[in-house]
Amino acid sequence: MKPTQEFSPCINEGCNLPATYGDKCRAHRQVERRIQQAIEDGTCYAYEGRSHGYQAEAAHAYYVEMSVAPSTWEWITTTCATPLCLNPEHMAFKAPKKLAYPSYICIYCGRSGYTVDHLLPRRLGGEAKRAYVVTVPACGTCNSLLGDTLTWSITERRAICHARLRRKYRKILNHFEYAESDLKEYGPTLRKAIVRGMEDKAEVMRMLDWPIDPLYDDRACEKAGIGDPYEVGLIISMVEANRIAAEVTAPRNRERMPRDAA
Ligand SMILES: [Zn+2]
Ligand SMILES: [Zn+2]
Ligand SMILES: [Zn+2]
Repeated sequence: MKPTQEFSPCINEGCNLPATYGDKCRAHRQVERRIQQAIEDGTCYAYEGRSHGYQAEAAHAYYVEMSVAPSTWEWITTTCATPLCLNPEHMAFKAPKKLAYPSYICIYCGRSGYTVDHLLPRRLGGEAKRAYVVTVPACGTCNSLLGDTLTWSITERRAICHARLRRKYRKILNHFEYAESDLKEYGPTLRKAIVRGMEDKAEVMRMLDWPIDPLYDDRACEKAGIGDPYEVGLIISMVEANRIAAEVTAPRNRERMPRDAA
């Protein structure tokens, strides 16, 4: 049997120190005091950790002092000369409307695309004003395959899109691969048709391999000023994305069954 815990841990994420000052540890209580002092004096209070942790710490400070939580999309910058200032009154919120992807290249399949796909945050649901929703470049095919997919994760959307592309082009993908030597056995017309089939298949394979650059999404988020796209859920692990895509794209047949039976 575990010994009874005599203290509860500090409420700050990742902090295991005992909460000896209300629901916080001594170190975190001190930070809060210094933030309150900075507000009173109108001075800066520089965050001492790595810039990676600043967003969480700043959002927490803002929430504690202002009783308002920054939204999923918002990113904190400072209006003062201290880049990692924890004084909530020196904080400014940035919400990118566009991720910094190369224009007119579909982020899902890599072909040229002249439409924009809206990443509709789940928390905003159907009430989101489209004008404030982040957009990414997409081709008409991928955009319509995604329809009203309710996730703002780029990785998840791409995995779902690819699963649907695989279904849409399944005949092309099933095209047999012929060796150069085999082709010689066929007449010119048939040979042409076989070669075209192989070219089509290669193009679909290229779409499914997109993006070739593993940091394609990370870079677009970074340029848009989103410091941690994993934290806000814009990028998730490929394993997780594929698992969700399999779930989202598979049930169709199962849903149809009761209707057929009736
Ligand atoms: Zn703590
Ligand atoms: Zn400041
Ligand atoms: Zn596309």
